[in-house]
Amino acid sequence: LNSIQGKSALVLGGSRGIGAAVARRLAAGGASVAITYVQGASAAHAVVDDITKAGGRAIAIQADSANDTAIEAAVSKTKESFGGFDILVNNAGVLAIAPIEEFTTEDIDRTIAVNIRAAVIASRAAARVMGKGGRIIHIGSTNAERMPFAGGAVYAMSKSALQGLTQGLARDLGPKGITVNVVQPGPIDTDMNPADGPMAAGLIPMLAVGRYGHPDEVASLVAYLAGPEAANITGAGLLIDGGFAA
Ligand code: NDP
Repeated sequence: LNSIQGKSALVLGGSRGIGAAVARRLAAGGASVAITYVQGASAAHAVVDDITKAGGRAIAIQADSANDTAIEAAVSKTKESFGGFDILVNNAGVLAIAPIEEFTTEDIDRTIAVNIRAAVIASRAAARVMGKGGRIIHIGSTNAERMPFAGGAVYAMSKSALQGLTQGLARDLGPKGITVNVVQPGPIDTDMNPADGPMAAGLIPMLAVGRYGHPDEVASLVAYLAGPEAANITGAGLLIDGGFAA
């Protein structure tokens, strides 16, 4: 059985969208779940309340992924609150789209800090406290494999970086019984990329399935990777993109 009952998880960026769906799904599987957020305190506490009402355990932690100390504190707090640390889901991410000539240095720095650097800092902190059966799951993007429109160079770079990080970390942590993977969604209906938003008309024709994905579909794959049955999957990039990169 692929049980995560009794495991302890931290989902970076768990107040909305894919991260909130992952948090709910891991909690439904019996894991205790900490989520981080930056601005969405009420959304984060709503996720925690839902999980608690359903009989699960959850906490919300304000921690900007651009801040090393905040990430490290979130890992420590998860371990202290739940008595262990088994699953890290690095989901927090930002999307800035602009022609390169107009791309601001601030957006370059923010994308690198949240989408790349935070993943390294969080993985290091998690690796220091995880034991056998540990799981590190990054949320990358299909744009690491295919970038079919202009303006997304820096975002695509940030998601490609997670592929290298994942492959290298798999080598570091495999001997300890910890797996590291990157889940690479295509267009998913969230605040970042609503199915009725400005990017949809251009993206839907690129999808083999002809529709946006749902956050719960991504959460299901993350939950599978988090369980013991996925112990032989590591260093992998797993597309869940409706055929966007096909
Ligand atoms: P949303 O913008 O809908 O939600 C983002 C979540 O991350 C929120 O919980 C937000 O918290 C949190 N967050 C944002 N910045 C930070 C930060 N600096 N520190 C901590 N938390 C932060 O995004 P999605 O759910 O759509 O995306 C989640 C991940 O999936 C991202 O990495 C994204 O790149 C990736 N992805 C998304 C796709 C899509 O089509 N939606 C496609 C492919 C990949 P708060 O509420 O406080 O703002």
